[in-house]
Amino acid sequence: MSYRLQGAIVPFRWTSIRHHHHILSHFNSTHRYIKARIATNQMDPVQVSEKVVDDPSSLELKKTAIRTAGPHKLQVIADFDATLTKYWINGLRGQSSHGLLHQGNPEYDTKRQELYEYYHPLEFSPSIPIEEKTKLMEEWWGKTHALLIEGGLTYDAIKKSVADATIAFRDGVVELLEFLEEIEVPVLIFSAGLADIIEEVLRQKLHRSFKNVKIVSNRMVFDDNGCLISFKGKLIHVLNKNEHSLDMAAPVHERLGDSDEPFDDYSSMKKRTNVLLLGDHIGDLGMSDGLNYENRISVGFLNHNVDESLNSYRKAFDIVYLNDAPMWGVVKLVSQLCPTGSR
Ligand SMILES: [Mg+2]
Repeated sequence: MSYRLQGAIVPFRWTSIRHHHHILSHFNSTHRYIKARIATNQMDPVQVSEKVVDDPSSLELKKTAIRTAGPHKLQVIADFDATLTKYWINGLRGQSSHGLLHQGNPEYDTKRQELYEYYHPLEFSPSIPIEEKTKLMEEWWGKTHALLIEGGLTYDAIKKSVADATIAFRDGVVELLEFLEEIEVPVLIFSAGLADIIEEVLRQKLHRSFKNVKIVSNRMVFDDNGCLISFKGKLIHVLNKNEHSLDMAAPVHERLGDSDEPFDDYSSMKKRTNVLLLGDHIGDLGMSDGLNYENRISVGFLNHNVDESLNSYRKAFDIVYLNDAPMWGVVKLVSQLCPTGSR
Protein backbone atom coordinates (compact mmCIF):
# COMPACT_ATOMS: atom_id res chain seq x y z
CA MET A 1 0.00 0.00 0.00
CA SER A 2 1.20 3.45 -0.87
CA TYR A 3 1.01 4.83 2.64
CA ARG A 4 3.80 2.52 3.69
CA LEU A 5 6.00 3.70 0.87
CA GLN A 6 5.35 7.32 1.66
CA GLY A 7 7.18 6.93 4.93
CA ALA A 8 10.16 6.11 2.78
CA ILE A 9 9.75 9.03 0.38
CA VAL A 10 11.06 11.57 2.85
CA PRO A 11 14.53 10.54 3.90
CA PHE A 12 14.86 13.06 6.71
CA ARG A 13 12.83 15.66 8.48
CA TRP A 14 13.73 19.13 9.62
CA THR A 15 12.06 20.51 12.65
CA SER A 16 13.11 24.07 12.09
CA ILE A 17 13.33 25.73 8.73
CA ARG A 18 14.10 29.39 8.82
CA HIS A 19 14.04 30.16 5.14
CA HIS A 20 12.03 28.73 2.32
CA HIS A 21 15.13 28.13 0.23
CA HIS A 22 15.64 25.33 2.67
CA ILE A 23 12.17 24.01 1.99
CA LEU A 24 12.78 24.14 -1.74
CA SER A 25 16.06 22.33 -1.46
CA HIS A 26 14.39 19.86 0.89
CA PHE A 27 11.67 19.35 -1.68
CA ASN A 28 14.15 19.02 -4.50
CA SER A 29 16.23 16.50 -2.63
CA THR A 30 13.04 14.58 -1.81
CA HIS A 31 12.07 14.70 -5.46
CA ARG A 32 15.50 13.49 -6.56
CA TYR A 33 15.25 10.75 -3.98
CA ILE A 34 11.92 9.55 -5.38
CA LYS A 35 13.29 9.64 -8.93
CA ALA A 36 16.34 7.67 -7.88
CA ARG A 37 14.13 5.11 -6.16
CA ILE A 38 12.01 4.73 -9.28
CA ALA A 39 15.08 4.49 -11.53
CA THR A 40 16.49 1.70 -9.43
CA ASN A 41 13.12 -0.08 -9.34
CA GLN A 42 12.91 0.24 -5.59
CA MET A 43 9.53 1.86 -5.84
CA ASP A 44 6.60 1.17 -8.11
CA PRO A 45 5.94 4.50 -9.90
CA VAL A 46 2.18 3.88 -9.76
CA GLN A 47 2.37 3.89 -5.98
CA VAL A 48 4.22 7.17 -5.76
CA SER A 49 1.70 9.85 -4.86
CA GLU A 50 0.20 10.87 -8.15
CA LYS A 51 -0.92 14.32 -9.18
CA VAL A 52 -3.74 14.96 -11.64
CA VAL A 53 -4.30 18.39 -13.21
CA ASP A 54 -7.32 18.50 -15.48
CA ASP A 55 -6.61 21.90 -17.04
CA PRO A 56 -2.91 22.80 -16.81
CA SER A 57 -3.21 26.08 -18.75
CA SER A 58 -5.97 27.39 -16.46
CA LEU A 59 -3.85 26.43 -13.45
CA GLU A 60 -0.85 28.29 -14.90
CA LEU A 61 -2.96 31.42 -15.41
CA LYS A 62 -4.13 31.30 -11.79
CA LYS A 63 -0.59 30.72 -10.53
CA THR A 64 0.67 33.71 -12.50
CA ALA A 65 -2.16 35.93 -11.23
CA ILE A 66 -1.55 34.94 -7.59
CA ARG A 67 2.24 35.29 -7.88
CA THR A 68 1.86 38.73 -9.49
CA ALA A 69 -0.52 39.95 -6.75
CA GLY A 70 1.95 38.89 -4.05
CA PRO A 71 1.78 37.07 -0.68
CA HIS A 72 -0.12 39.92 1.04
CA LYS A 73 -3.13 39.07 -1.16
CA LEU A 74 -3.02 35.34 -0.43
CA GLN A 75 -4.72 33.24 2.23
CA VAL A 76 -4.93 29.48 2.70
CA ILE A 77 -8.18 27.76 3.70
CA ALA A 78 -7.77 24.13 4.70
CA ASP A 79 -10.03 21.34 5.81
CA PHE A 80 -8.59 19.35 8.75
CA ASP A 81 -9.59 15.66 8.78
CA ALA A 82 -7.97 13.63 5.98
CA THR A 83 -6.67 16.85 4.39
CA LEU A 84 -4.00 18.01 6.84
CA THR A 85 -4.05 14.59 8.51
CA LYS A 86 -3.22 11.24 6.94
CA TYR A 87 -5.95 8.89 5.77
CA TRP A 88 -3.86 5.81 6.60
CA ILE A 89 -1.45 5.42 9.51
CA ASN A 90 0.57 2.20 9.66
CA GLY A 91 -2.20 0.27 7.98
CA LEU A 92 -4.96 1.72 10.15
CA ARG A 93 -7.51 4.28 9.10
CA GLY A 94 -6.52 7.62 10.65
CA GLN A 95 -9.08 8.91 13.16
CA SER A 96 -11.04 12.14 12.80
CA SER A 97 -11.26 14.85 15.45
CA HIS A 98 -14.72 13.52 16.34
CA GLY A 99 -13.81 9.86 16.00
CA LEU A 100 -10.82 9.89 18.33
CA LEU A 101 -12.76 11.17 21.32
CA HIS A 102 -13.32 8.88 24.31
CA GLN A 103 -15.23 10.85 26.86
CA GLY A 104 -14.23 8.68 29.78
CA ASN A 105 -17.72 7.27 30.07
CA PRO A 106 -18.18 4.00 28.10
CA GLU A 107 -21.96 4.26 28.11
CA TYR A 108 -21.81 7.59 26.30
CA ASP A 109 -19.05 6.49 23.92
CA THR A 110 -21.38 3.64 22.90
CA LYS A 111 -24.30 6.01 22.43
CA ARG A 112 -22.22 8.25 20.14
CA GLN A 113 -21.02 5.20 18.20
CA GLU A 114 -24.66 4.13 17.70
CA LEU A 115 -25.44 7.57 16.30
CA TYR A 116 -22.46 7.23 13.94
CA GLU A 117 -23.68 3.86 12.72
CA TYR A 118 -27.15 5.26 12.04
CA TYR A 119 -26.25 8.61 10.46
CA HIS A 120 -22.96 7.94 8.67
CA PRO A 121 -24.61 5.82 5.90
CA LEU A 122 -27.25 8.54 5.50
CA GLU A 123 -24.50 11.14 4.97
CA PHE A 124 -23.36 9.24 1.88
CA SER A 125 -26.76 8.07 0.64
CA PRO A 126 -27.31 9.31 -2.92
CA SER A 127 -31.11 9.00 -2.62
CA ILE A 128 -31.69 11.53 0.18
CA PRO A 129 -32.40 15.09 -1.06
CA ILE A 130 -29.92 17.67 0.18
CA GLU A 131 -32.41 19.62 2.35
CA GLU A 132 -33.43 16.46 4.14
CA LYS A 133 -29.82 15.36 4.48
CA THR A 134 -28.88 18.75 5.96
CA LYS A 135 -31.58 18.29 8.63
CA LEU A 136 -30.28 14.79 9.37
CA MET A 137 -26.73 16.09 9.75
CA GLU A 138 -27.89 18.88 12.10
CA GLU A 139 -29.73 16.23 14.10
CA TRP A 140 -26.64 14.01 14.26
CA TRP A 141 -24.24 16.78 15.31
CA GLY A 142 -26.80 18.17 17.79
CA LYS A 143 -27.37 14.81 19.47
CA THR A 144 -23.64 14.08 19.58
CA HIS A 145 -22.85 17.42 21.20
CA ALA A 146 -25.66 16.89 23.74
CA LEU A 147 -24.22 13.48 24.66
CA LEU A 148 -20.78 15.03 25.19
CA ILE A 149 -22.26 17.49 27.68
CA GLU A 150 -24.59 14.97 29.36
CA GLY A 151 -21.80 12.37 29.64
CA GLY A 152 -19.57 14.84 31.48
CA LEU A 153 -16.73 15.35 29.00
CA THR A 154 -13.66 16.95 30.56
CA TYR A 155 -10.69 18.69 28.99
CA ASP A 156 -8.46 16.02 30.52
CA ALA A 157 -10.39 13.35 28.58
CA ILE A 158 -9.66 15.30 25.36
CA LYS A 159 -5.93 15.41 26.17
CA LYS A 160 -5.87 11.69 26.85
CA SER A 161 -7.94 10.86 23.74
CA VAL A 162 -5.55 12.80 21.53
CA ALA A 163 -2.52 11.15 23.15
CA ASP A 164 -4.05 7.70 22.48
CA ALA A 165 -5.38 8.51 19.01
CA THR A 166 -4.37 7.15 15.62
CA ILE A 167 -3.85 10.55 14.06
CA ALA A 168 -0.89 12.14 12.27
CA PHE A 169 -0.27 15.09 10.00
CA ARG A 170 0.79 14.45 6.43
CA ASP A 171 4.51 14.76 5.89
CA GLY A 172 5.27 18.34 4.93
CA VAL A 173 2.41 19.95 6.89
CA VAL A 174 4.75 21.42 9.52
CA GLU A 175 7.02 22.81 6.82
CA LEU A 176 4.00 24.22 4.95
CA LEU A 177 2.72 26.01 8.07
CA GLU A 178 6.21 27.29 8.94
CA PHE A 179 6.73 28.61 5.44
CA LEU A 180 3.32 30.33 5.39
CA GLU A 181 4.01 31.84 8.81
CA GLU A 182 7.33 33.19 7.62
CA ILE A 183 5.83 34.86 4.55
CA GLU A 184 2.90 36.07 6.70
CA VAL A 185 0.15 34.25 4.85
CA PRO A 186 -2.79 33.35 7.13
CA VAL A 187 -4.15 29.81 7.30
CA LEU A 188 -7.75 29.11 8.20
CA ILE A 189 -8.51 25.56 9.29
CA PHE A 190 -12.22 25.10 8.63
CA SER A 191 -13.72 21.93 10.10
CA ALA A 192 -17.04 20.32 11.00
CA GLY A 193 -15.10 18.55 13.77
CA LEU A 194 -14.26 19.98 17.18
CA ALA A 195 -11.99 23.03 17.52
CA ASP A 196 -10.73 22.12 20.99
CA ILE A 197 -9.63 18.70 19.77
CA ILE A 198 -7.96 20.11 16.64
CA GLU A 199 -6.01 22.53 18.86
CA GLU A 200 -4.96 19.70 21.15
CA VAL A 201 -3.80 17.67 18.12
CA LEU A 202 -1.75 20.66 16.93
CA ARG A 203 -0.30 21.05 20.42
CA GLN A 204 0.58 17.38 20.92
CA LYS A 205 1.72 16.50 17.40
CA LEU A 206 3.47 19.72 16.33
CA HIS A 207 4.66 20.90 19.76
CA ARG A 208 4.33 24.50 18.77
CA SER A 209 1.80 27.15 17.81
CA PHE A 210 1.54 29.17 14.64
CA LYS A 211 0.52 32.79 14.88
CA ASN A 212 -0.92 32.68 11.35
CA VAL A 213 -3.26 29.71 11.98
CA LYS A 214 -6.91 30.15 12.93
CA ILE A 215 -9.50 27.46 13.49
CA VAL A 216 -13.16 27.71 12.55
CA SER A 217 -14.90 24.68 14.00
CA ASN A 218 -17.29 23.66 16.78
CA ARG A 219 -15.93 25.21 19.94
CA MET A 220 -16.57 23.95 23.45
CA VAL A 221 -17.11 25.93 26.65
CA PHE A 222 -15.70 24.42 29.84
CA ASP A 223 -16.44 25.40 33.45
CA ASP A 224 -13.76 26.08 36.06
CA ASN A 225 -13.47 22.36 36.77
CA GLY A 226 -12.71 21.60 33.13
CA CYS A 227 -16.16 20.10 32.45
CA LEU A 228 -17.91 20.76 29.14
CA ILE A 229 -21.00 22.89 29.69
CA SER A 230 -21.96 24.13 26.22
CA PHE A 231 -20.91 24.83 22.65
CA LYS A 232 -20.20 28.30 21.27
CA GLY A 233 -21.81 29.75 18.17
CA LYS A 234 -23.59 28.07 15.32
CA LEU A 235 -23.24 24.36 14.70
CA ILE A 236 -20.88 23.48 11.85
CA HIS A 237 -21.66 20.13 10.24
CA VAL A 238 -20.47 18.50 7.00
CA LEU A 239 -23.11 20.14 4.83
CA ASN A 240 -22.98 23.75 6.01
CA LYS A 241 -19.25 24.49 5.97
CA ASN A 242 -19.97 27.09 3.31
CA GLU A 243 -22.39 29.20 5.34
CA HIS A 244 -20.06 30.23 8.09
CA SER A 245 -18.42 33.56 8.35
CA LEU A 246 -14.84 33.75 9.45
CA ASP A 247 -15.66 35.68 12.60
CA MET A 248 -15.91 32.45 14.57
CA ALA A 249 -12.20 32.12 14.06
CA ALA A 250 -10.02 32.31 17.16
CA PRO A 251 -6.26 32.46 16.79
CA VAL A 252 -4.87 29.16 17.96
CA HIS A 253 -2.03 30.79 19.87
CA GLU A 254 -4.46 32.39 22.35
CA ARG A 255 -5.25 28.90 23.57
CA LEU A 256 -1.63 27.88 23.54
CA GLY A 257 -0.57 30.59 25.94
CA ASP A 258 1.09 32.87 23.42
CA SER A 259 0.26 36.46 24.26
CA ASP A 260 1.21 38.08 20.95
CA GLU A 261 -1.34 40.17 19.12
CA PRO A 262 -3.50 38.26 16.67
CA PHE A 263 -1.65 37.82 13.42
CA ASP A 264 -4.45 38.95 11.19
CA ASP A 265 -8.05 39.90 11.72
CA TYR A 266 -11.17 39.04 9.84
CA SER A 267 -11.37 42.31 7.89
CA SER A 268 -7.84 41.93 6.58
CA MET A 269 -8.57 38.30 5.71
CA LYS A 270 -11.38 39.61 3.51
CA LYS A 271 -8.86 41.78 1.67
CA ARG A 272 -6.85 38.73 0.81
CA THR A 273 -8.66 37.92 -2.39
CA ASN A 274 -6.46 35.08 -3.61
CA VAL A 275 -7.15 31.70 -2.07
CA LEU A 276 -5.35 28.41 -1.90
CA LEU A 277 -7.95 25.87 -0.79
CA LEU A 278 -7.10 22.40 0.50
CA GLY A 279 -9.74 19.70 0.97
CA ASP A 280 -10.55 16.03 0.65
CA HIS A 281 -14.27 16.29 -0.20
CA ILE A 282 -15.92 18.15 -3.06
CA GLY A 283 -18.07 19.86 -0.42
CA ASP A 284 -14.87 21.44 0.96
CA LEU A 285 -14.87 23.77 -2.06
CA GLY A 286 -17.71 25.63 -0.32
CA MET A 287 -15.25 26.80 2.38
CA SER A 288 -14.39 29.84 0.24
CA ASP A 289 -18.02 30.72 -0.54
CA GLY A 290 -18.10 33.53 2.02
CA LEU A 291 -15.25 35.32 0.26
CA ASN A 292 -15.29 37.42 -2.85
CA TYR A 293 -12.12 35.86 -4.12
CA GLU A 294 -10.40 36.87 -7.34
CA ASN A 295 -8.32 33.76 -7.90
CA ARG A 296 -8.63 30.40 -6.23
CA ILE A 297 -6.43 27.36 -6.63
CA SER A 298 -8.09 24.28 -5.17
CA VAL A 299 -6.17 21.18 -4.18
CA GLY A 300 -8.08 17.95 -3.51
CA PHE A 301 -6.73 14.90 -1.70
CA LEU A 302 -8.50 11.88 -3.14
CA ASN A 303 -7.74 9.33 -0.47
CA HIS A 304 -9.99 6.42 -1.41
CA ASN A 305 -12.47 5.22 -4.09
CA VAL A 306 -10.07 6.63 -6.68
CA ASP A 307 -11.62 4.82 -9.64
CA GLU A 308 -15.16 6.00 -8.87
CA SER A 309 -14.31 9.54 -7.80
CA LEU A 310 -11.37 10.68 -9.91
CA ASN A 311 -13.52 12.06 -12.70
CA SER A 312 -15.57 14.29 -10.43
CA TYR A 313 -12.52 15.33 -8.38
CA ARG A 314 -10.44 16.32 -11.42
CA LYS A 315 -13.31 18.49 -12.69
CA ALA A 316 -13.89 20.07 -9.28
CA PHE A 317 -10.30 20.70 -8.07
CA ASP A 318 -7.46 22.36 -9.98
CA ILE A 319 -5.03 19.79 -8.62
CA VAL A 320 -5.85 16.31 -7.30
CA TYR A 321 -3.39 14.24 -5.26
CA LEU A 322 -3.96 10.50 -5.11
CA ASN A 323 -2.83 7.77 -2.74
CA ASP A 324 -2.90 9.69 0.55
CA ALA A 325 -0.10 11.94 -0.71
CA PRO A 326 2.27 13.95 1.48
CA MET A 327 2.03 17.76 1.52
CA TRP A 328 5.29 18.33 -0.40
CA GLY A 329 3.49 19.14 -3.66
CA VAL A 330 1.60 21.95 -1.89
CA VAL A 331 4.83 23.19 -0.27
CA LYS A 332 6.34 23.45 -3.73
CA LEU A 333 3.23 25.15 -5.11
CA VAL A 334 3.30 27.80 -2.36
CA SER A 335 7.00 28.41 -2.96
CA GLN A 336 6.15 29.05 -6.63
CA LEU A 337 3.24 31.34 -5.70
CA CYS A 338 5.41 33.29 -3.27
CA PRO A 339 8.98 33.25 -4.59
CA THR A 340 11.83 34.96 -2.75
CA GLY A 341 11.90 38.73 -3.01
CA SER A 342 8.25 39.14 -3.97
CA ARG A 343 7.39 40.77 -0.65
MG1 LIG B 1 -11.91 16.13 5.53
